[in-house]
Amino acid sequence: MLRAALGGTAAAVGAGLGAGPGLAPAPAVAAPRTGGTRPTTPAAALRELARGNGRWRAEHQAHPHEGASDRVAAVSGQHPFALILGCIDSRVPPELVFDQGLGDLMTVRSAGEVLDEAVLGSIAYGVLELRIPLVVVLGHQSCGAVAAAVRAEESGERPPAHIDYIADRIRPVIDHGHTGPARIDATITANVRHVRGLLAAEPDLAARVAAGRLAIVGARYELGSQRVHRVA
Ligand SMILES: [Zn+2]
Repeated sequence: MLRAALGGTAAAVGAGLGAGPGLAPAPAVAAPRTGGTRPTTPAAALRELARGNGRWRAEHQAHPHEGASDRVAAVSGQHPFALILGCIDSRVPPELVFDQGLGDLMTVRSAGEVLDEAVLGSIAYGVLELRIPLVVVLGHQSCGAVAAAVRAEESGERPPAHIDYIADRIRPVIDHGHTGPARIDATITANVRHVRGLLAAEPDLAARVAAGRLAIVGARYELGSQRVHRVA
């Protein structure tokens, strides 16, 4: 099941994120986890994220793991169950859109969720040292970084210093089968696939995927619906 999900098929893993482009409806309200137990398998981690996104969409957040006992427990260590590689966009904070709390998610964010050595090293730390079972590459609707890369190519004008580094990472996946806003939107999805593919090709990560101990999935957050759905 997991292998099929990693291959980008529509095989269902969990209640939503694993169910392909049209998410199966996640329960709008889910009981918060108890006793500090967190998912330890890729499939369980996907289910928990889907449940959390369902709560967010329904405005029935549980705000888990924010209390005094959670803050005390955090002193002695961390056991995040998912790593989210997302964009810097202020409208897509992973802990909010997945309704998770202290110690639940490791988040790595860069404009357009592009990779560099620092990002890769951060992800490797989470997966190899903390044994996080799930990495989600999370793109989003109306991504300014992707739009900047598309506009730079169309205009031939180079973006300002350092922003050009971001644009250069996205440029190879610009979708030329569309024009205008549709091109930006298609490129957002293509960029998620591209980054996911790069991560999946990392030997240390690939070994854990092959062993069934890690899933690396691509997803998009839609600002309008607040829904996170898989990118096949
Ligand atoms: Zn963005």
